[in-house]
Amino acid sequence: MADMVVVRKEGLYCVPGQFYIDPWQPVERAIITHAHGDHARVGHGHYLSAASGVGVLRQRLGEINIDGLEYGDTVQHNGVTISLHPAGHVLGSAQVRMEHRGEVWVASGDYKVEPDRTCTPFEPVRCDTFITESTFGMPIYRWQPEQEIFDDINGWWRRNAEQGRCSVVFAYAFGKAQRILSGLDPSIGPIVCHGAAEPINRVYRAGGVALPPTVMVGDVSKADLKRALVIAPPSASGSPWMKRFGDYSDAFASGWMQLRGARRRRGVDRGFVLSDHADWPGLMSAIRATEAPRVIVTHGSIPVMVRWLRQLGLDASGFDTEYGDEDEADSVAPVTEGVDA
Ligand SMILES: [Zn+2]
Ligand SMILES: [Zn+2]
Repeated sequence: MADMVVVRKEGLYCVPGQFYIDPWQPVERAIITHAHGDHARVGHGHYLSAASGVGVLRQRLGEINIDGLEYGDTVQHNGVTISLHPAGHVLGSAQVRMEHRGEVWVASGDYKVEPDRTCTPFEPVRCDTFITESTFGMPIYRWQPEQEIFDDINGWWRRNAEQGRCSVVFAYAFGKAQRILSGLDPSIGPIVCHGAAEPINRVYRAGGVALPPTVMVGDVSKADLKRALVIAPPSASGSPWMKRFGDYSDAFASGWMQLRGARRRRGVDRGFVLSDHADWPGLMSAIRATEAPRVIVTHGSIPVMVRWLRQLGLDASGFDTEYGDEDEADSVAPVTEGVDA
């Protein structure tokens, strides 16, 4: 049987369905797994996403011709039955299930197995072929439970506040910023959000996600800033916007912080290992749960994952895509040498 999904120069293409999944060039019909910039681009004729993802997509892409599909509901397109299933990555993130003549393919988009408070938890979907991301597809990547990371962040913030020092966390404005917010203890002090994150916070709240109260920097007195926690995108680091925080302590929140030297390369005081992607055990459990005999690996550690999956007896191969990693999108490239076990 011919492959249901192939890579074309525009992106991942469902051949019988004649539509694309997260295409990187403009196409007529696109299914979008989630609103991160490398997966969701402007210029497509028609968009389909999870219903809970429409708000963020509109916020980030402006006026687009988009339909939302509830998780688990189906639509038919050129004989392909399409449904979207929670990917647990960010608000509205979805895996795409495609069924054609009894064969089932699932494209994961980005996913995370550990549940969190900001999006619907990952749901394994049985299929014949699973297209999986591999951002953290190396055995060294093993995340602690998120509550332990939140406890670390709140403890660091509390100590800084007691010493009259502002705390600044650099985190990607969509997804990571809201995930951190969901774990903060607002009794410690005011929570300030950069203008890149605050509009997305509003979309999350409108979507029913409970986040602690946040303010813009202009709403906080100089005295209160000394015990505030500030969430800002990595691109704000070193910018004039930071000057108002005086002698602040800063941190970066990302899965890459597990790499030796990553914190120092970022030039921040603290690194919190918090990722919206599956770690190695998460990737392996997700792949197993699909029961798919065939796995196609995209963006991340393709050779490592393919070799490992073949050793497990699976039919594994890779797809070259133009997806990146949101934590690295506006700064240094991921560093994979000198990894620390
Ligand atoms: Zn993503
Ligand atoms: Zn991705």
